[in-house]
Amino acid sequence: AMLWRTSPAATELEQVALDWLRQMLGLPGPLFGVINDTASAGTLYALAAAREALSDLQIRQHGMSGRPEVPRLRYYASQEAHSAVDKAGIVLGVGLEGLRKIPVDEAYRMDVAALEQAIKEDLAAGWRPFAVVATVGTTSTTSVDPVPAIADLCERYGLWLHIDASYAGSAALLPEYRHILAGCERADSFIVNPHKWLFTPLDCSVFFTRKPDIVKATFSLVLEILRTDEEAPNLMDYGISLGRRFRALKLWMIMRYFGQEGLQARLREHIRLGQLLAHWIDEAPDFERLAPTPFSTVCFRAHPRGLDDEAQLTTLNERLLQRINSAGHYFLSHTRLRGRYSLRAAIGNLRTTEETIRGLWQELQEGLRVELARLS
Ligand SMILES: *Cc1c(COP(=O)(O)O)cnc(C)c1O
Repeated sequence: AMLWRTSPAATELEQVALDWLRQMLGLPGPLFGVINDTASAGTLYALAAAREALSDLQIRQHGMSGRPEVPRLRYYASQEAHSAVDKAGIVLGVGLEGLRKIPVDEAYRMDVAALEQAIKEDLAAGWRPFAVVATVGTTSTTSVDPVPAIADLCERYGLWLHIDASYAGSAALLPEYRHILAGCERADSFIVNPHKWLFTPLDCSVFFTRKPDIVKATFSLVLEILRTDEEAPNLMDYGISLGRRFRALKLWMIMRYFGQEGLQARLREHIRLGQLLAHWIDEAPDFERLAPTPFSTVCFRAHPRGLDDEAQLTTLNERLLQRINSAGHYFLSHTRLRGRYSLRAAIGNLRTTEETIRGLWQELQEGLRVELARLS
């Protein structure tokens, strides 16, 4: 699947499967979609397109260095955004300093007043703001940035709005969770990863854009041997790869096999299990939750009564994590939240059941008893 002509089925099925996905997510059409290997690639493409949208600068043609007429470029994301957002700045020549990290509120969502303040300061200091990345489902705590208010600012200041919904976007398949995508219909580009939480094997990240012409203007460069006269899109024009895997096939297969209701039932169950674990943690005197649980990922730690030394709590929880993971029945991850070491249980596998979560909770409680004894 390089051009439409080299495998029409691959290109056509990608359009069909992504339009089904768009409908399931409740996003208004028409919306152009293309599948990349990862969200990291898609984020880079989104920000490359945002840079291309600064049409007066003609960076695609002339580059950025050695041009005194090109101001320093700035884009914005919250402190909780994924490192893919930083990496895009590295590759695009905007630099890590070109990304300004915006503080978050008590629930780890981007502080929109701080965003506007930052944009104003940067304008006054001679930067050229060009994009904002808002996250729907941040990596650590799965928080949802206030997209409608961010979209307002993007419109006011003429900035490209990119939405990173890699993990949590899938939850919008549920009518009761559709609100998490409020404002996303105004975004210039949007990413959701079926390989995160839609049961599709790795290497399936969906990139939607309302501005396919700009994305194409960013990447299209057609060698004579690739020149064809079809009306159909050539997906090589929307990124850097020519040859592409037939990624739509597995996504189409997943949608066909489970059906919309089947996918919804599984997502709903994962969220129920996440909430159940969160509830047990809240009820337990020796554990505490360290962040809200909007979906099925729970951030928590052991915090036994009377043990309030942060260094000791970190050691205790590090050991607990190691104990659980080396036992091999479960695999927990960790993060740091306002300096506190936090365990993370991310529930999203097709085979995870309530029994799995009960077993995990049991192991956590037993593990805590053993590790507490070691500590004292
Ligand atoms: C996982 C994740 C990414 C990176 O996804 P890849 O497809 O592995 O590159 C980016 N952003 C968020 C919010 C994520 O959860």
